[in-house]
Amino acid sequence: MSAPDNTTVPDEVRARHAELCRELDDHSYRYYLGNPIVSDAEYDQLMQELRDTEDEYPILITQDSPTQKVGAPISVDFAEVEHLVRMESLGNAFNTDELNAWADRASAEVPVSAYLCELKIDGLAVDLVYERGRLIRAATRGDGRVGEDITLNVRTIAVVPEQLDESVRPAPELLEVRGEVFLPVEDFEKLNQRITADGSHAPFANPRNAAAGSLRQKDPRVTATRPLSMIVHGVGAYTPAAQGGEDVAFTSQSQAYTLLGEWGLPLSDRYRVVATMDEVREYVAHYQAHRHDPAYEIDGIVTKVDDFALQRRLGSTSRAPRWAIAYKYPPEEVTTTLVDIKVGVGRTGRVTPYGVMEPVVVAGSEVEFATLHNAQEVARKGVRVGDTVVLRKAGDVIPEIVGPVLDRRDGSEREFVMPERCPECDTELGQQKEGDVDLRCPNARSCPGQLRERVAFIAGRKALDIEALGYVAATALTQPLEPAEAPLSNEGDLFDLTVEQLLPIRTHVLDPDTTEPKTDPKTGEPKVVSFFANMKGEPKKTVEKLFDQLEEAKKKPLWRVLVSLSIRHVGPRAAEDLARHFRSMDAIRGATEEELASVDGVGPTIARSIHEWFAVDWHTEIVRKWAAAGVRMEDEGQEPGSRVLEGVTVVVTGSLEGFTRDGAKEAVAELGGRATASVSKKTGFVVVGDAPGSKYDKAVKLGVPVLDEAGFRVLLSDGPEAAAGLRINPVEKAPEKDTAE
Ligand code: NAD
Repeated sequence: MSAPDNTTVPDEVRARHAELCRELDDHSYRYYLGNPIVSDAEYDQLMQELRDTEDEYPILITQDSPTQKVGAPISVDFAEVEHLVRMESLGNAFNTDELNAWADRASAEVPVSAYLCELKIDGLAVDLVYERGRLIRAATRGDGRVGEDITLNVRTIAVVPEQLDESVRPAPELLEVRGEVFLPVEDFEKLNQRITADGSHAPFANPRNAAAGSLRQKDPRVTATRPLSMIVHGVGAYTPAAQGGEDVAFTSQSQAYTLLGEWGLPLSDRYRVVATMDEVREYVAHYQAHRHDPAYEIDGIVTKVDDFALQRRLGSTSRAPRWAIAYKYPPEEVTTTLVDIKVGVGRTGRVTPYGVMEPVVVAGSEVEFATLHNAQEVARKGVRVGDTVVLRKAGDVIPEIVGPVLDRRDGSEREFVMPERCPECDTELGQQKEGDVDLRCPNARSCPGQLRERVAFIAGRKALDIEALGYVAATALTQPLEPAEAPLSNEGDLFDLTVEQLLPIRTHVLDPDTTEPKTDPKTGEPKVVSFFANMKGEPKKTVEKLFDQLEEAKKKPLWRVLVSLSIRHVGPRAAEDLARHFRSMDAIRGATEEELASVDGVGPTIARSIHEWFAVDWHTEIVRKWAAAGVRMEDEGQEPGSRVLEGVTVVVTGSLEGFTRDGAKEAVAELGGRATASVSKKTGFVVVGDAPGSKYDKAVKLGVPVLDEAGFRVLLSDGPEAAAGLRINPVEKAPEKDTAE
């Protein structure tokens, strides 16, 4: 087949091409002002479509196409500045194949022996010009040739030197450097809190928009209130020092960084020079897993051929150097349509609105639902049903609807109204006490939704950890389809279930995020399963497993039983504190509110909640039934002398051979210690297993003793003093001399 004759471009292709160019230009400009209306992923998709069209019909490529140019048109708010050397964009790689293809192309032309890898900071490009060491001008990238003069604003950035440091060598005659201006994440969060509190500005959707908005202020005094920072990552024009100095030339990216650092310019300490593409890929993978370690947001990795002579030989396309490539990580922020706002009821009766969205991939996984917490939160975010919303999922954090894209409203959106009745049992909702933000279904005893959620929770890893009792089984046991009867009318009967009760049960398969029945893709009808019986009506394997695991669950420690009761505010931590102090369910039940509140880690709110819970008859009946069924209601008594870890905080990270994560925590708790999740200066020990995460690095940094599994066993058997000598990390600071000795 011959290639299409690209002089005869179909009309609809031509029209789409023109539309794409217009749209992309418009998006670029809005983005540049810090006010985009589409996500970066959507922008990248449109750009890819344009590139594909131009690949097929090269005649459509003009100098003016967004594929051929850098950045956005200049606004009239600032004076124009011509860059001494053109500022470029970067080519992108969205996967390893594209990264490899870039390296192959470069290596085919020149002998590359070193790559410099660094973080792609999600900020905005700024050009600085120093004449004989003095900062004379700062400008935005603009269209790459001409940018905007923002010198006064950049002067407010603390890390940008007004005068280069000449203590190591004299400043050059002329030096033009490029870098990224950004707002560190913590400062971004504080800024948003401040501007929303004083009403001076609507909150910014992300640090990049905040940085762009802050840098393009007409009044530098406003910029000065925004804690912007900068990291330099490139060199433009350069004339070495005329007199008195050595005539130093830049020979490579890394050597240039050393010189720029000596002159006091802000550099990253996270870049690496490596010899092979394997190491480049390792660096890319490392920061993909540690994307949130830096204080600022990154959206990828930039890899550069280190040697300047080779960079020059490779040259540039019309918009980007051939000697560098940006590997883009999957976006953590996307836009999608908020199709509906529904409400669900939780195990403690809290009724929570959540957003139902057009499914969208964010940070590598598909997301359709995101909690909106409560009606006030919906109002605070200002989202309406039908809005285009910004959805964010950073790392392991649950997806969050950040807010609406106001410029995309067309008037068809509708306000959310919080229902007045429970979506599951139609009971009128109320507040627990006046001023509560949350609405609750007061029908704790009979609301089928609450019971289902409580049963599913009992089976969860933080409670009795009964794997065979998942969400479908919890639904089956509490809301079977007619004519079967629910074996559980409350959780009290959980340990008295019989096989006969289970066999006739059929149930809908609910989506745990929405509690809506899932539909059968073939029929479009709600999915129905017989969870416990096979086709012949005999018990499935699950049934035996369920009964075995229920037996196991009866032996679990007291704190887990306490958590399983779904007493408001009593999570694993409070339960551990209570169990450690009182050692039996009877003692907890018999304690006065004051006695409960005086336990370390408990306090008045939890105490009141426990007290109120035990005052309800059907609650105590659950405890009675569980006890009668053999559920463990006391912890083994401990000799006071064996509480060797009293007052010691231990963090476990990575996987240990001889302990599960929970088992290790329990072992610490049983000896009076406290197992926590995050490392601070107050942490006594950090125990590391295989594949420890950033907690290890933090421990080393703070000088907290780190133990391996063997050291951990010594800690448990012989106590902190014996274990301290077994630390495996270097001691950061010399211990202070004990003068008493
Ligand atoms: P780019 O952001 O993909 O890459 C080039 C820029 O990366 C450089 O100008 C530089 O400032 C920056 N950079 C950060 N760290 C760097 C480092 N260590 N070394 C070198 N450069 C580094 O390209 P672009 O042309 O600036 O912008 C295109 C991208 O911006 C798009 O892919 C999209 O993600 C986003 N965008 C979004 C919208 C929107 O409406 N959402 C509009 C336009 C652009």
